[in-house]
Parts: sequence; C-alpha cells; structure tokens
Amino acid sequence: MARLDSVWDALAFDAPWKSRQEKENARDALERFLRWHTDERDIRGSTTAASEHDFDVTLDAGPHQIRIRGTMDRVQRDDQGRAYVVDFKTGKQKPTGPDVEHHPQLAVYQLAVRQGALDDAFDGRTPDTAGAQLVHLRLGAPRKEGGDALPAVQTQPPPDDTWIGGLLAEAAGRVLDERFTPTTGTHCTHCAFRASCSAQPEGRQIIE
Ligand code: SF4
Repeated sequence: MARLDSVWDALAFDAPWKSRQEKENARDALERFLRWHTDERDIRGSTTAASEHDFDVTLDAGPHQIRIRGTMDRVQRDDQGRAYVVDFKTGKQKPTGPDVEHHPQLAVYQLAVRQGALDDAFDGRTPDTAGAQLVHLRLGAPRKEGGDALPAVQTQPPPDDTWIGGLLAEAAGRVLDERFTPTTGTHCTHCAFRASCSAQPEGRQIIE
C-alpha cells in the first residue's frame, strides 16, 4: 500500500475523482491478491514455484512448428508436485465458463509446461500440468466461493492436445498464407477496431 501511495500521483487521470476511484480499485485488487496468495498456501497447500517466469518453447502444430515465447505471471506447485499456471487479470470483464475451457492463452501455457517450459523451476523435471487459472483481481468471487474479498478464479483443466494443437495449426496456416479475415464474436463488444473492421457494418467501407 505504501508503494501504491508513492507511485500513484505520477499516473495521469482525467479528473481527481477518477484518480480516487481507481486508487480504491487498486487497493481492493491488492487486498484480493494478498488473500488469494495466503489461501493458496494455507488452504490449498500449494507453493509458489515461479513468478514472472519467462519461457521459450517450440510446439508441434500439425505440419508446422511454432516457437512461443512469453511470461507466466505465476506458477504454483500443488500438493502432488504438479504445476498450474496462473494469469492475473485486471480487466472488468471475465469470460464465460465454456470460454475458459477453451481459453487459448491458458491452453498454450499448459502445452508449454508439457514441452518443458517449467523444467528449470521444477528441479529439471517436466511436471504434469494440473490446469491453469485466470485470477481476476478486479472482480470479487461469487458468495459461495468466498465473496467480494477474494478474487474471482476460473480454472481450465489440463487440455486435450487435439483442439489446442488444431487451433495453433490453424493460426500458423493463417499467418503463412496471410489469411487475416476477421472473425466476429463476443470479443467484438470491446474492440477498438470496430470502425475499421471489414466484418462490421461500420467498417465495411474499408473493403468496398
Ligand atoms: S470488431 Fe472485427 S477486429 Fe474487432 S474483434 Fe470483432 S472481428 Fe475482430
């Protein structure tokens, strides 16, 4: 909280009331993070294996090989020695349950774990993946999961390689063939490119 106080005034806001409101939100998010952190250890018996963990792996995707580099916000080791990757979110929206099950970012993290992305954090062995989680620091958990003082947590079970492998192969094929046709969906609601997106009525003049 002291650190938050010391850096806050350097951030630009449109109005003083907005700054105060966002600072309250930031405090709430930090408090949720701290409760989540202690519950992971004290209630679920997991330990922190890594944080801000950089990785660089090559994954097989159909006829292609894809190099993936990134950073895992946090990696926990569960009481059976398995790994689960945690991605902290600070947005105001969260995906639906079915969307989490097929959340590409979480699934790619889990494939990366199977491909050795965490070996250095697990004494040189490749841990089994126990799933991956979105932890929404800005959103309180439902009452039956602890209520507003805790973050909303969504978990993806270990993925079957088929669908995520297929998705990666499709993505690689699109990049190599330069097929960039936009695909509409719920993700369009908050998209900043609607006005220039050929799949939306307001952006159609781009290609007409
Ligand atoms: S509006 Fe167009 S660019 Fe934006 S998310 Fe939807 S399909 Fe993609």
